[in-house]
Amino acid sequence: MTTLLARLSQDRRRLLMDRTVPGRVGATLSKSDVPEQPLPSQDLLRSSLDFPEVSENDIVRYFSQLSQLNFSIDHNFYPLGSCTMKYNPKIDDEIAGMPGFAEIHPLQPAATVQGAIRLMWELQQRLVEITGMKGCSLAPMAGADGEFAGMLMARAYHLDRGDTKRDKVLIPDSAHGTNPATASMCGFEVITLPSDADGNTDLEALRFSVGDDLAGLMITLPSTLGLFDSNILEVVRIVREAGGIVYGDGANLNALLGRVKLGELGFDVMHSNLHKTFTQPHGGGGPGAGPVIVGERLMPYLPTPVACRTEDSGGVETYSLDAPPKTIGRMGAFHGNFGALVRAYAYMSTLGKDGIANISRDAVINANYILSQLKDHYDLPYDRSCMHEVVFSARSLRREHGVSALDVAKRLIDYGIHPPTMYFPLIVEEALMIEPTETESKETLDSFIEVMQAIAEEARYEPALLHEAPHDTPNTRLDEATAARRPYLRWRRDQ
Ligand SMILES: *Cc1c(COP(=O)(O)O)cnc(C)c1O
Repeated sequence: MTTLLARLSQDRRRLLMDRTVPGRVGATLSKSDVPEQPLPSQDLLRSSLDFPEVSENDIVRYFSQLSQLNFSIDHNFYPLGSCTMKYNPKIDDEIAGMPGFAEIHPLQPAATVQGAIRLMWELQQRLVEITGMKGCSLAPMAGADGEFAGMLMARAYHLDRGDTKRDKVLIPDSAHGTNPATASMCGFEVITLPSDADGNTDLEALRFSVGDDLAGLMITLPSTLGLFDSNILEVVRIVREAGGIVYGDGANLNALLGRVKLGELGFDVMHSNLHKTFTQPHGGGGPGAGPVIVGERLMPYLPTPVACRTEDSGGVETYSLDAPPKTIGRMGAFHGNFGALVRAYAYMSTLGKDGIANISRDAVINANYILSQLKDHYDLPYDRSCMHEVVFSARSLRREHGVSALDVAKRLIDYGIHPPTMYFPLIVEEALMIEPTETESKETLDSFIEVMQAIAEEARYEPALLHEAPHDTPNTRLDEATAARRPYLRWRRDQ
């Protein structure tokens, strides 16, 4: 019986080419009424083509089954830390698909797309208000692209003032990996700041590192430890006093919405990932939007375009897309990922001001609920309340039972739950970074907690179960580096 079940399960996972039955066809074509033409010479013809020979029914089942192997937020709980895999309301997709948004072209004269540009202008205004900043460009097409824009602006700002020796950027070791990558792409030398015992930026190290060659500091807030840096005001003060630009990585603004404004804390520039903080189905590399939002001194350098509004004497409003006076230029061919902008705008509009503040409340409560229920089962490297995500460690499980964070993550797949982010942040050994998001119910969180507790038990009594997990997927343990760098994307006869 078990072998029969195992074989049937194997059958369901066969590739399309391996389902071929010679001579089987998927469609019957009616007889052609076009006169037959002679075939080209024999050496131009191939005798065998690798087409699958299957029926229409086979094809439909194959692709439907394949689609069910995808893991998505619409299927199951997806607590992938730092990525904010929250529920994306379908109404936002519907609005982004309306012809007035989806069927316009970026080269159309502005007069014919006033509504679209007005939406961009209003979205800029909302982001400026939410962050306590002064100006915004929606051009960057991802969080990392927003960082790139921001640090190019920081460079332009210093060079513009003839301050040419500022080539160092300080980055705490709890920052997202894109921060040092961005700084070095912009030509800066990166200096890593350690975190102190509470997970905040080490102020002594910061004071020691600032000087007249300081271009600025990039800080992820909340940090990738899921913590709000309680030294932040002092950090900002020290950097600004040394003449540096303070960059805030606000990818995970969902923890701060309606409560903390980086502009009011003295930040010069930040980005927000609209696809995480607001809405947009994302993952697998896109699409997203990472608007860059700035205080007074970086306004002239914003990337192009910036949506502007003018009002004539008769009170008629006109919207245009303009280039700021000292712009760093364009981030891409046109105006950013417009569809993602429409979704974020629609999401904010449905929630309203109070609803937006509830995002951070619920995101933070949900993460702290998980923290409180799992801290007796997994190590908690920083035992203090967290923000929108909580970072545990499987250090003890590994030492005492030989079970790693990877084993725990893989076992979650057997329970129908997407693994959390693992081995990141790098400063936590055997890290498991869990972000429940604000859109999950208490029932879902309770079920996840029960599963995580059960896995911790399994680690003690049946570790082999975890080493071999997942048990019911077409592939179990991949060589993940090779799978990412040299993926097989099509069928070949010799494989
Ligand atoms: C996701 C994330 C980024 C990068 O955003 P992308 O849109 O993937 O480029 C940067 N910083 C933090 C803190 C993030 O969570």
